[in-house]
Amino acid sequence: MRLILLGPPGAGKGTQATRIVEKFDIVQLSTGDMLRAAVAAETPVGLEAKEIMARGDLVPDSVVVQIVSDRFDQPDCANGFILDGFPRTVAQAEALGTLLHSKGMMLDVVIELAVDDEALLARIEKRAAETAGGARADDNAEALKKRLAVYHEQTAPLIAYYREQGLLKTLDGMQDIDDVTAAINGVLEPEKSSASA
Ligand code: AMP
Repeated sequence: MRLILLGPPGAGKGTQATRIVEKFDIVQLSTGDMLRAAVAAETPVGLEAKEIMARGDLVPDSVVVQIVSDRFDQPDCANGFILDGFPRTVAQAEALGTLLHSKGMMLDVVIELAVDDEALLARIEKRAAETAGGARADDNAEALKKRLAVYHEQTAPLIAYYREQGLLKTLDGMQDIDDVTAAINGVLEPEKSSASA
């Protein structure tokens, strides 16, 4: 099974992705995690991405697409994957389509976690307060707000893009975490039985 989890920062994609991975035995491919690892390891990609990420902007499409392409070739992707944080622009979505096609793969579904902006801003303030001086360089209120603005500008157009392809399922991300998980399972269980290998 191959799916995309789409939604603004703070919508709970990471939490839900972890649960999907356990239940459906697929891998989570988070470009954010991969980029943070590259930053920590001070690779050329990491050095290029560091400042961009710290201010909440997007790393260039070409860089991210290459990382994902390399990752798809790892054997643990054979059973399927969940893309978390990728694609983030229409250009990335188009590149992903080309990439999957060239590898003989197809997407099964794109799940959008819909969350309203006011609630997100409240979560963002809370998360920034909880992690003040903490783990992520981009977990301060300013960078988080920037990430939300970037989401609306550059990533939200993917909702229409995948709707037109007939792949989009929109779920209410404002529910309790367990209810969101149940809604996701309701989408994925039928997909799993109908998914081609
Ligand atoms: P995330 O962990 O998904 O919130 O990503 C953290 C940061 O990594 C983002 O704010 C971007 O700077 C960068 N990033 C992650 N995924 C992508 C992507 N698909 N395209 C461009 N930049 C990305």
